[in-house]
Amino acid sequence: MKYIGAHVSASGGVENAPVNAHSIGATAFALFTKNQRQWKSAPLTKDSIAKFKKSCEQYGYAPSQILPHDSYLINLGHPEKEGLDKSREAFLDEMQRCEQLGLDRLNFHPGSSLGKISDEACLRLIAESINIALDKTTGVIAVIENTSGQGSNLGYKFEQIKMIIDHVDDKSRVGVCLDTCHTYTAGYDLKTEKGFADTFARFDSIIGFNYLRGMHINDSKKELGTRVDRHDSLGKGFLGIEIFKRIMQDPRFDNIPLILETPDESIWAQEIKMLKSF
Ligand SMILES: [Zn+2]
Ligand SMILES: [Zn+2]
Repeated sequence: MKYIGAHVSASGGVENAPVNAHSIGATAFALFTKNQRQWKSAPLTKDSIAKFKKSCEQYGYAPSQILPHDSYLINLGHPEKEGLDKSREAFLDEMQRCEQLGLDRLNFHPGSSLGKISDEACLRLIAESINIALDKTTGVIAVIENTSGQGSNLGYKFEQIKMIIDHVDDKSRVGVCLDTCHTYTAGYDLKTEKGFADTFARFDSIIGFNYLRGMHINDSKKELGTRVDRHDSLGKGFLGIEIFKRIMQDPRFDNIPLILETPDESIWAQEIKMLKSF
């Protein structure tokens, strides 16, 4: 089964996200459970949590169809104590929000060395940050998103993600989300049939499909290997449309949320319809 949706708005309360997802014909969705540009947000209210759960049930969204995304401010590999502590506290809060909402996974960008520590030291900090959050929560999988490697952001090579996973104690609660735009601009060719086959064979041998807990389905405004993160609508960027057909026809991408983060939300319903038609 393919679960297809988009990163929908939760403005006015998390309970609005499943309603917004349903209105565009989505069978999956992503959301922020708090304001993604602020360090602190008010706790989720009991009313909001109950409404969210009820709505998910009503529209048929199980936890395996929902991929919450954490705040962009968080850097779990922050080279300085103050920034690291703040990030770890905020990440724990995000994990606890997922727990409260009955969700089983949280998608996040691994972190950045800010050019102040080695990549390896940063990856170890990220793994330690994940261990701390997993220790204090239950049932929520920390889902590492691959990045395009812009600036000093890590997680653009499969080997880097593998290294984080290697240092996480509870392997059953760590996962990976592959973003098609990030994968491509990080230097993995997904566009050609051979590139697609090779890239996912590499992913499988280095990390393993058993860790794949979601995908972000985006075209790219930038070319292969540019290390720049600019999403485009499907078929409008450098990736073209064939790659999305291949994903939809490939059972390795079954039963996980496939989430659009494409820039024109007015065509999400059409993009979802098109993906379903493949
Ligand atoms: Zn992301
Ligand atoms: Zn993404």
